[in-house]
Amino acid sequence: MTAQVDSPDGRAMTDEPPITDLRTALERLTRYPGQLIETDHPVDPAAELAGVYKRIGAYGTVARPTRLGPAMMFNSVTGYPDSRVLVGLMASRERVGILLDSPPRLLTQRMAEAVRNPQGPVLVGAEEALCQQVIHRATDPGFDLRTLLPAPTNTPDDAGPYFCLGLVLGSDPELGTDVTIHRLCVQSHDEMSIFFAPGRHIDEFRRRAEAAGRPFPISINMGLDPAIPIGATFEAPTTPLGYDELAIAGGLRGTPVGLVDCVTVEQKAIARAEIVIEGYILPDVRVAEDQNTHTGHAMPEFPGYNGPANPSLPVIKVTAITTRHHPILQTLVGPGEEHTSLAGIPTEASIYNALDAALPGFVTAVYAHTAGGGKFLSILECNKTRPFDDGRARQAALIAFGVYSELKNIILVDADVDIFDTDDVLWAMQTRMQNDIDIITIPAVAGHVLDPTQSPAYNPALPAVGTTAKTIFDATVPYHLKATFERAHFTDVDPRPYAPDLNLLYP
Ligand code: MN
Repeated sequence: MTAQVDSPDGRAMTDEPPITDLRTALERLTRYPGQLIETDHPVDPAAELAGVYKRIGAYGTVARPTRLGPAMMFNSVTGYPDSRVLVGLMASRERVGILLDSPPRLLTQRMAEAVRNPQGPVLVGAEEALCQQVIHRATDPGFDLRTLLPAPTNTPDDAGPYFCLGLVLGSDPELGTDVTIHRLCVQSHDEMSIFFAPGRHIDEFRRRAEAAGRPFPISINMGLDPAIPIGATFEAPTTPLGYDELAIAGGLRGTPVGLVDCVTVEQKAIARAEIVIEGYILPDVRVAEDQNTHTGHAMPEFPGYNGPANPSLPVIKVTAITTRHHPILQTLVGPGEEHTSLAGIPTEASIYNALDAALPGFVTAVYAHTAGGGKFLSILECNKTRPFDDGRARQAALIAFGVYSELKNIILVDADVDIFDTDDVLWAMQTRMQNDIDIITIPAVAGHVLDPTQSPAYNPALPAVGTTAKTIFDATVPYHLKATFERAHFTDVDPRPYAPDLNLLYP
């Protein structure tokens, strides 16, 4: 294992042109060697594309062999001469740092600051509606979602083709607007199923519309400034019901997200999106997610396993697809490093802000580790200055569990350990723990249904699927023994004259 993040902190990015959409994001990446590759080699969106990227850059919770790698643009997608498919844009913390103008190690703090300084979206004129350069209406002869857009099938076991990075925008007349990424399985020429994990805000809006017997108008926005999807991944309590997460992208960029009116539904769309699907979630209609394939599986989920197909999902009736010229369909392969970035960095920011409020200055860094897809495992850097802080470290873990209910395991380390370097964290667990006193387990707490151990089948003491033991691994040094745990001091030497070819940074 090597360090997750090896690029220098404090990278100067001030003279970069701003990122305003997916295309300007890709332009920026071309200036960083090894961050974006493209291929003209023909690829089948059905299982082949994801299979290629698994070898090139999926990483994270994906079965080996896989690796950290570049984002990848497929220019020649079999059967779709007008489309390109991009995968892996956020599949590296270093790349996310480049895209969000931040040293990778400080992305937690960067996101935390954006949440504290949100800037809501604005309506822009039709002349700025790049997403409507090309309009396909469902009433056009021969309209077919399946031939217009190359939705990838990630594995041969999947229920069907999915839009995996579709940012759904929905609103409620009383509660406000919400944006969230949901898995969308193509079901027919003008229908998709939509899966909501329990408690998702747009699902609450949808329920209210359904109770009133109304179709629920939505836009599905794909191919965006990466600040938008990562900002949309915050969850309650950081972004409570009715909080429009587009304001976090506004906070990240210092510029509001531009919205335009949809062409066929009473809803807004993101003006600079590559692709927008407009439609309605129909009241009182449900389909089995795998009705066309009967595979029993949905698509690979973030923990690295194939999720089950849902027997009964709401249906989106598509009314239009609007795109930019020669649009880019952005996707992800399901699990992997891209999920860790999208889910984990906002999780870090939520934990960081809560700890900063409760225990100012005590926890100075948080990493939502890729082994848990950015959800199950967090590592907290604690700064103990007195014996009482032995207790505050454990209190910090309890606060983190409180802020983020899907968190399962927390490792506490001191500030002389690099939380982004798994080898260093494991070192702390070997030399700074006696496990009969340093592991604290809290049984049968609400967790996440997609972890296969969180089930009464695994542990009969669990009351339901999605409940779990939660564990604190306290790898911090007891304060009164601090002197015993000083790491060996090497002389700090500038290594560059000795190894100029390594392009080392110093200090
Ligand atoms: Mn929300």
